[in-house]
Order: sequence, then structure tokens, then C-alpha cells
Amino acid sequence: MSGPRLTPLATSLPATIPFVGPETMERLRGAPFTARLGANESPFGPSPRAIAAMCDAVTEAWMYPDPENHDLRQALADYHEIGLDHIVVGEGIDGLLGVVVRLLVAPGDAVVTSDGAYPTFNYHVAGFGGTLHKVPYRDDREDPQALLDRARETGAKLLYLSNPDNPMGSWHDPATIEAMIGNLPDGCLLVLDEAYAGCSDIPTAPPLDVDDPRVIRMRTFSKAHGLAGARVGYAIGAAPLVASFGLVRNHFGVSRLSQTAALAALSDTDWPVEVRRRIAESASAINDIATDAGLVALPTATNFVTIDCGRDGAFARKVLDGLLRRGIFVRMPGVAPLDRCIRVSCGPAPDMERLAQALPGAVAEAS
Ligand SMILES: *Cc1c(COP(=O)(O)O)cnc(C)c1O
Repeated sequence: MSGPRLTPLATSLPATIPFVGPETMERLRGAPFTARLGANESPFGPSPRAIAAMCDAVTEAWMYPDPENHDLRQALADYHEIGLDHIVVGEGIDGLLGVVVRLLVAPGDAVVTSDGAYPTFNYHVAGFGGTLHKVPYRDDREDPQALLDRARETGAKLLYLSNPDNPMGSWHDPATIEAMIGNLPDGCLLVLDEAYAGCSDIPTAPPLDVDDPRVIRMRTFSKAHGLAGARVGYAIGAAPLVASFGLVRNHFGVSRLSQTAALAALSDTDWPVEVRRRIAESASAINDIATDAGLVALPTATNFVTIDCGRDGAFARKVLDGLLRRGIFVRMPGVAPLDRCIRVSCGPAPDMERLAQALPGAVAEAS
């Protein structure tokens, strides 16, 4: 009797998981975390309108969702003042990244990203057999010129850039990104991940030029909108590229509840302002807590603060482990020299108090 015959590609893949979830970590440690500040979720929660809309929609969960996500796409089109045919909705940016890689990357095709950038993108590239080329960060920011140079050298079909960036919280201004798009080599698509759009008042997004076939922009309801558990994101791009998503996307992937929640969240113009205020307040608290513990908080345009622990990756890892032992869920970048840092999501005052209590002890223990 023979077992299932995995493809050679599947057989060749490393058994890596892009993120070990906090639930897994809680099962392993045998206790829940007391502050969940590791996944850049928004502990401030979604708009009250989104919560009410989901409650109302619960009894309709027996129906499949609209596979075209029409009402949400229409609302997004109105919001961005663009046409419906420039928007595709999917299961978060994570899901959309998988689709864009599947559409463009065949085994052996070159793809460029930054060393230490968002690992889920790399996971998808590996899964479709692409060859990843990584460029180091420069001064804790992604390096547009080096990324472009590498894309040109390798004939890359995709170039990934997150702006603002995760895990460093850094950003480039809109003009820099616009210039980067202008300098893309022929046949290279920029995947511009704007997951942290709306988390701060710092301008980062260049104006939308939806007919430009060289860039696809990804947005999500997971961060500023506080709906990470709903799994809703969208991509904005030229109509032919957006239409091609229909060839392979999971048409029923975004649940009815999630579509309803995102639609209601979008209709609320007050909540995003309030969330930005709370993020700024928390970022300032994290800054003070880090300083008091002898560490340095880096500037951020996101809903998290990356803290430079001032030594090497082994030291930062010890600080992180100390926090985890004290019930504080945080993460850290995976690659040197970024891994001298830990990354703390913004959260409400009680979470900040727990962090303030835990960090000095974790640092002392690591030293
Ligand atoms: C959090 C994050 C995502 C995940 O977005 P989802 O819509 O929840 O899948 C994507 N990209 C970056 C850079 C992120 O930090």
C-alpha cells in the first residue's frame, strides 16, 4: 500500500511555520499570557459598529458569503475613490500574498525582499518554488535602491516591500516609494504591503495610481481596524492583474461575518481617529518604559514599538524570554542586526502597566 505522493516541491519544503501562535505558546507554557502584545493586533478592538454588525449577522451564518465580496468592494472603491475592478478582497494580506505569488512565481523564478522582512511572504514564495533573494536593511529601514538593484540583477518577477515596515516600525516617505515604482525594472511587480496604513498620522502612502501595472498594494482590516480575527484584507491594482486573482483565489474565503464586519468598520470615520490617538498614547508609554529599563525605543509609524536592547541577538532573546516567562507575549526580529531588538505591540493602559512591571526584571536577568 502506498501513501499519498506529495509533489517533489512539497517534499523539498522545510517544515517551518512563519509564526508560532500565542495560543501554541500558552499551551506549551501551561498558562495564558496576561498581556498579548506580540502580534500587532489591536487590543483597542474594532469599531463598535463592526461589533454590532457582526452580532446582527450571526443568525445569517448559515448562508455562504457573497463570493464577489461585492458590497465591501463597492464601499472600498468609494472610500478610495477608485473603480470596483481595481479591488480584490481576500483572507487578509496573508491570503492575498499567497495568491499573488501563485499567479506570478513559477519554480525557479526570482523574487526579492529584505532580509528580516515579513516571513509569511517568504513562506509563500518557498511554497511555490520561487528563489528568494534578500537584501539587508540599511539603518533599520528597508533599502529601496538595493532592492531595485537586486531585482534588476536577478530579473525578479516580484519585489516585496512593507511600508511602514514590520518588524522595525520604520518607514519611507511617499515620494521615495513613488520614485521606487518609477525605477522598477521591466516586468517586475512591486508588492507594496501597507498593513500599517492608518496606524499613525505620518504620511507613508503615495497617491493611488490604479492603472499602473507595476505595483499592487495590500491593505488589511487586521491592524488599525482591529479585526485580525476576522481575516479580511484587500489588494488594489491595475484591473487586468486584479481580474487574474479570480483564476486561483478562494472565492468563498472571506466569511459572511467578516465581510459584514469590515463593511461596518469602514463606515465609521470616528473610530480610526480614536484608535490612532490610543496607539500614539501607548507608543509613548512603551517609549518611557523602555527608557526606564535602560533600552532605546525606535521611532514608529505603526501600532508597535521596536525596542533596541543595545546588544546582540542572544541578549535580546533573553530579554524576550524573560518577558514571556512573566506572561507578556512579545516577539522579536529573526535576523541580525535587527535581532538586537524586541517588538512590542501598542495596547491599553493595563497592558502597559504589566509591561512596565515586567521589563526591568527581564533586562536585569538577561544582563
Ligand atoms: C500583520 C501583517 C500582515 C498580516 O495581515 P493580515 O491581513 O492579517 O493577513 C501583513 N503584512 C505585514 C507587514 C504585517 O505586519
